[in-house]
Amino acid sequence: MSNYLEKGYLEVSDIIDNFPSEDVFSLHPVAVSECVQEIPCNPCVSSCPTKAITMQDISSIPVINYEQCIGCGKCVQVCPGLALFLVFKNKDSYEITLPYEMLPLPKVLDEVYLLDRTGKRIGTGIVKRVIKVEKNTYSSLITVSFKEKSLIYEVRNIGVKNG
Ligand code: SF4
Ligand code: SF4
Repeated sequence: MSNYLEKGYLEVSDIIDNFPSEDVFSLHPVAVSECVQEIPCNPCVSSCPTKAITMQDISSIPVINYEQCIGCGKCVQVCPGLALFLVFKNKDSYEITLPYEMLPLPKVLDEVYLLDRTGKRIGTGIVKRVIKVEKNTYSSLITVSFKEKSLIYEVRNIGVKNG
């Protein structure tokens, strides 16, 4: 694990070993976790309808069983740390579903900036789905698609153009 606490962000090398294989996320969207701090928190566990997320105790790092995950996105919406995402290979493109708490929300088919963990622009993508939540303790969900496989390990936020 890199010195993420000093830097304030994870690197691809920190998450790649536990990332699901493309075979798995070609079947349906699958949740991935970048939750690395051992703090008392577990809404991801209690929100999961298939019990795909487990923790040894309330302060442990959550573990996702990729075989049990059905890609519903509930854990992504409830995570207060914005540490969960869905990844999916959809025919000829890749998709990531992100928790989003900014306004304005983008619209379906908008082109948006793809941002890495440091907020740097690393490309553009097309918005495929927007789920706006009414409860203000939850995050809205934005699904963006792009062509480059490598971006699925890097894109962790979006920037609305002219927003
Ligand atoms: S996406 Fe749904 S099924 Fe998968 S881990 Fe999250 S809550 Fe569970
Ligand atoms: S809800 Fe989010 S921050 Fe809390 S344990 Fe789960 S993944 Fe980590």
